[in-house]
Amino acid sequence: PAQRPSCNRILLKMSGEALMGNGEFGISPEVLDRMAGEIRQVVNLGVQVGLVVGGGNLFRGAALQKAGLGRVTGDHMGMLATVMNALAMRDALERAGLRALAMSAIPMSGVVERYDRMRAIRHMEKGRVVLFSAGTGNPFFTTDTAATLRGIEIEADLVLKATKVDGVYSDDPVTNPDAIRYDELSFDEAISKELRVMDLTALALCRDHNMPLCVFNMNKQGALQRVVAGEAEGTFLVSG
Ligand code: UDP
Repeated sequence: PAQRPSCNRILLKMSGEALMGNGEFGISPEVLDRMAGEIRQVVNLGVQVGLVVGGGNLFRGAALQKAGLGRVTGDHMGMLATVMNALAMRDALERAGLRALAMSAIPMSGVVERYDRMRAIRHMEKGRVVLFSAGTGNPFFTTDTAATLRGIEIEADLVLKATKVDGVYSDDPVTNPDAIRYDELSFDEAISKELRVMDLTALALCRDHNMPLCVFNMNKQGALQRVVAGEAEGTFLVSG
């Protein structure tokens, strides 16, 4: 198996749905606190953490389009939803005793800072968790792509995608009990087998810039810390 990178700086992607907990919509305060606790474990180890949160628990452009809105308007709403999630997550991180700040790809003066790569890196070097919100700032992209993009920009050692399951499977493990979990995969395999780890834009970006990706279950206590320590956890994706 490929050598796992030593993690000085990571980019963690959490979906909006992960923040809902067992609800159907919105944000669960218990989940926020639990996630903040997991993040605190790795910050306390000296790992620099950048965070991208999705917005699917509130709005998704594609779903709004189906309901009759214009796609670009829907995507703008989706991006604004990620800012709300980032505010909630920042609050939870601060309550957990960490220093955190949120940046937005869409300027929103007085609410969050505008995204600035160098400033983000400086903050992370000081041990602050930086939340990158509003996705890429552009419609037709996803927060998975935003996470990959920011991960590459801030020179993270690893992009981590938190999911509800323990990694990447050959089929949906919820509906197919025979689905097998991969320990390791190449981005090309993920693309050709249509494993839907992330959208194609995000996968291609990782592949083309040699950015390793780990898909893991953040609901499992200590899993984030184990990934960062290089232990066998989740599925590890690398360039061919
Ligand atoms: N979005 C966008 N551009 C981006 C990132 C997100 O337009 O760069 C919009 C898009 O409508 C998306 C929504 O924001 O559906 C929420 O993001 P996403 O679906 O990635 O959230 P997640 O599934 O991770 O909760």
